[in-house]
Amino acid sequence: MFLLKIRYINRGVTRALETGQIRKKAALTIFSCVHLFYGGYMINQYMKAAVNQAKKALECGEVPVGAVIVKEGKIIGRGFNKKEKTKVGTEHAEIIAIRKACKKIGDWRLNDCTLYVTLEPCLMCIGAVLETRIEKIIYGAKNQSKKHKKTDFYNLKLEQSQTFGEEASNLLKTFFINKR
Ligand SMILES: [Zn+2]
Repeated sequence: MFLLKIRYINRGVTRALETGQIRKKAALTIFSCVHLFYGGYMINQYMKAAVNQAKKALECGEVPVGAVIVKEGKIIGRGFNKKEKTKVGTEHAEIIAIRKACKKIGDWRLNDCTLYVTLEPCLMCIGAVLETRIEKIIYGAKNQSKKHKKTDFYNLKLEQSQTFGEEASNLLKTFFINKR
């Protein structure tokens, strides 16, 4: 419902701008504000979807990391960490989500896609992102692993979510506290 309202406002402003009902400058300001707000809202929705994947991992006794891949506003791949279940060390949430996204669109090139993941990706997953041409990564919690070294990832856009960092990090803490 809320989303519909935002879309409605967005459409209304575009129409007003096209028909010259309001001054161009004012319209552009409103337009970019609505866009910014709408964009921020959608980022949170995708991060929420990634957190839901991480919760599934937790329920399965896996380290809770979840990921989704978004193309043109649609989630085209979801995944959560399945290392324990599969006994395969490379079955990270990102890799599973990438595999599903490629299958869904029938292409290995994930151009114009964004990866939303609850934990800052490891080097293997960064490599997979570069290989599949994903343009941007938005992650929740910071990766504290010593194996995780900061490098310049070929100008890859890597951003931390302002809203879901704590929730993603708390899921991981819960898992490790229960393990002890
Ligand atoms: Zn990884």
